[in-house]
Amino acid sequence: MQYFVSPYNKEVKYKFKKDITVYDTTLRDGEQTPGVAFSSDEKVSIARKLDELKVPQIEAGFPIVSNAERNIVKKIANEGLDAQIICLARTKIDDIDAALDSDVDGIITFMGASDLHLEHKLHFTREQALNLCMRSVEYAKDHGLFVAFSAEDATRSDLDFLKRMYKKAESYNVNRIHIADTVGAATPQGIDYLVKELKKDIKTDIAMHCHNDFGLAVSNSIAGLLAGASAVSVTVNGIGERAGNASLEELVMTLKILYGKDLGFKTKHIKEVSSLVSQATGLDIPYNKPVVGKNIFRHESGIHVDAVIEEPLTYEPYIPELVGQQRQLVLGKHSGCRAVKAKLDACGYKVSDDQLCEIVREVKKTREKGTYINDDVFKEIVRNINLADP
Ligand code: MN
Repeated sequence: MQYFVSPYNKEVKYKFKKDITVYDTTLRDGEQTPGVAFSSDEKVSIARKLDELKVPQIEAGFPIVSNAERNIVKKIANEGLDAQIICLARTKIDDIDAALDSDVDGIITFMGASDLHLEHKLHFTREQALNLCMRSVEYAKDHGLFVAFSAEDATRSDLDFLKRMYKKAESYNVNRIHIADTVGAATPQGIDYLVKELKKDIKTDIAMHCHNDFGLAVSNSIAGLLAGASAVSVTVNGIGERAGNASLEELVMTLKILYGKDLGFKTKHIKEVSSLVSQATGLDIPYNKPVVGKNIFRHESGIHVDAVIEEPLTYEPYIPELVGQQRQLVLGKHSGCRAVKAKLDACGYKVSDDQLCEIVREVKKTREKGTYINDDVFKEIVRNINLADP
């Protein structure tokens, strides 16, 4: 058995769209993480890894930002990946030209929709915004691009105005509308309400773009999908502005294992792409980060280790191999005989029961004195009770 989760999950009927498109924005929103700038090589390797993972759509960057950025996006677009390559563009013709120049398959173009954004960022009236925002849609459609229209700050926008904006986008035949929860300020129930309201008037595919300011990005994304959205944005390790975005690894594994909705990802590559992004961003992955953290399949307490040695699913919902991780048994003050015996076996030591008890006592004592029990320390302990090296 590879995983075992609550049987009560299946008591609920989940209605997802048959086809769900995950678009990864590690290379765009992820790169907007303060202090992060990928090199061209890093961006290309991340795009390749995402493609290996079977991400269907990659938002590769924001070509208008610089010539270098344009060249990187172009390079990714010409890598021959299976994933569709899209990029960000404001509602300006120059932005669309930069996108066209980058050979992408499509764009996400956006306009602030909340009064807060209109007043304090754009300095537009609602009518001005409505008139402006379709310029780029029309131009991009005319040039054969896939066009997604995103209402920024949608979750804090007036519903009637938001509907007008999306309906206008629909009248210009956009391929998808995006609901941006720009500051992660919605609840899953609020998202459910919003998506269902929009679906009363809008027939176009809906995508979710959820930020994680309250730790709800993944829950909100799933709430959107359950309410009828058919696309969702993610970033590797959940990086992005402030608290970041819905994390790819959490969303994909939650959908697959808890909701039984397999998106066809090659999940065994997840740890690898997570490490690559961590390295390229210089951002460490918290030890307790779901799916990819160092502690997710690491056990120390004697009771847990004993059980895990016999049956891993006692203290793991799924086995580490599913996401390219490895199980680790850590020796420390909570270790019992079984964990120490397993470690001795792994190192090739044979000991008597008395010697085993002595080693367990030493392991606890050493750890309590503040020394971390790595392999060298462990071997030292074994040597000190007069056993020959294997
Ligand atoms: Mn964003």
